[in-house]
Amino acid sequence: MDYVDGASRCQLSTHDDNEHYGLLDDTGERGTALWLRWSGTVDVELVVLADCQAVSRRVDGEGCCLFTGHAGQHTWEDTLEDA
Ligand SMILES: [Zn+2]
Ligand SMILES: [Zn+2]
Repeated sequence: MDYVDGASRCQLSTHDDNEHYGLLDDTGERGTALWLRWSGTVDVELVVLADCQAVSRRVDGEGCCLFTGHAGQHTWEDTLEDA
């Protein structure tokens, strides 16, 4: 559990399940990032996940900071209002 202390908080906006993901390091191999994955009952795991490829069509070239297949909104959706 040492990784979680002060290092990460869950990045997901909504959850379809009880898994949580915190970004640990995105300075590794291009197109991937190191994430912590945890839940209420399972120990923290380190996982390497591919970056989410979704790019906002309304905000210029802004990419999503999460990983491919994440639940909930893309990160750039948080700041947008439905017009
Ligand atoms: Zn969470
Ligand atoms: Zn995304």
